[in-house]
Amino acid sequence: MARSTSEMNKSELKNIAAAATAKKFKEVIPDNESALNLLSEIKWKDGFVCSKCGSTNYCKGKSLSSRRCTRCKKEESATAHTIFHRCKIPINSALEIAYLVCNVAAISSYEIGRQLDMRHMTCYGFQKKVIACLHGENDDKLLKQMLSRVHDMVAQLEK
Ligand SMILES: [Zn+2]
Repeated sequence: MARSTSEMNKSELKNIAAAATAKKFKEVIPDNESALNLLSEIKWKDGFVCSKCGSTNYCKGKSLSSRRCTRCKKEESATAHTIFHRCKIPINSALEIAYLVCNVAAISSYEIGRQLDMRHMTCYGFQKKVIACLHGENDDKLLKQMLSRVHDMVAQLEK
């Protein structure tokens, strides 16, 4: 027999909230490529500037979403100089962790791991970075801009 909401305990309700939030996220950012596209779009929204020589001319780099300076040939990945640099997990998963942390109050790394189908310790590293960033210890405007964009995309979905 189905139980009513009032009979469910708090952690069950939290699971439902986390699952609903994760589902919406996956609808707007379904894979690594869409996360990288969003990252490069926001990172270079004011145009490309080579971190080595300052040139603003670029061509497509070798790897997904990377750009190569046409003057000095230095290639820069979308993740370089961002919170996603040297991230051990796919960028869409990292962004999903950030989205869950921001949208599900006091979500645990166990719950995040369940939603991403990953070991909780794998999620914990990035979760810590996100929390530090939200507390302003490690200010990352780019992450906040990405989250706000995802938020808008989800809102659009619900219209
Ligand atoms: Zn250059």
